[in-house]
Amino acid sequence: MNKNIVDLHEKLQALLLTQRDSSIQGKVADYIPALASVKPDLAGISVATIAGNVVSAGEYQHPFSIQSISKVFGLVMAMNRIGDSLWQRVRMEPSGQPFNSIIQLEWEKGIPRNPVINAGALLVSDVLTSHFSSSKLAFLTFVRKLAGNESIFVDNQVYQSELTHGNGNAALAYLMKSFGNIESEIPEVLSHYFTQCSIAMSCEQLAKSFLFLANKGIDPRTKKTICTARDAHRVNAILSTSGMYDQSGEFAFSVGLPAKSGVGGGVMAVVPGYGVICSWSPPLNSFGNSVVGMSLVAGVAEELGLSIYH
Ligand code: GLN
Repeated sequence: MNKNIVDLHEKLQALLLTQRDSSIQGKVADYIPALASVKPDLAGISVATIAGNVVSAGEYQHPFSIQSISKVFGLVMAMNRIGDSLWQRVRMEPSGQPFNSIIQLEWEKGIPRNPVINAGALLVSDVLTSHFSSSKLAFLTFVRKLAGNESIFVDNQVYQSELTHGNGNAALAYLMKSFGNIESEIPEVLSHYFTQCSIAMSCEQLAKSFLFLANKGIDPRTKKTICTARDAHRVNAILSTSGMYDQSGEFAFSVGLPAKSGVGGGVMAVVPGYGVICSWSPPLNSFGNSVVGMSLVAGVAEELGLSIYH
């Protein structure tokens, strides 16, 4: 094995060893029972590079609920499907509010601040349900192709839990519909959104799946164009300013990478021109971001000097 790869593997293991204990500072998502029962001490990390290497440590093959990381897949699908008209229905500004907040949405007449807060992701889910005959299948097919793995699945227990406890998201969707910014029927939009949130994937699968964002829209393994270079740039810009919710400023300040978190404990960070880092540890901080997941990404970014602001 190449010396750089061995070095990186040792670095990842050392980071896991030192960071794992800080998970006690966080709290596993408990808004649905299916997530509250996840073991808090699991943790993993994978780094996939454009050059074709994948280096991992810990429980990097353990599937977890990707939750809001799914918003990135959905955004790319919607951009590919309806082009620039998407930006008349959702903006590209940081919200400065918690991911599930409804406050801004009324003031701003049902136009979500960005596509990676819940309101924006529900809007994107509406685009997908109204433009695909079977949006859930299209979504799963897209993700499976990117990961190169047909066995990726929707965790039905998480999905049922999301549906039962989905009133906050329903409120966001109905409010947008009252402003005329949702086309499909709300139950269909919610069902799509909860399905994509309930997909289970590992750090390794996620890191490989998002390589196209680090490579101007082209999957370096298959050489296929997943989105235009302009759209890859736009997604990365949105992830830099909004991907870690109302902690995005701090994340840019201290780490300096476009990134997306999910309440399942995953953090996915894009390093343009290099690759993708994906970490996972279930306990979350008050912003809904994984405590250890963020420190692991921060550690790798610092060790390898990966910040985009250098
Ligand atoms: N399913 C979660 C929700 O809609 C996703 C949020 C997240 O991962 N931040 O509340």
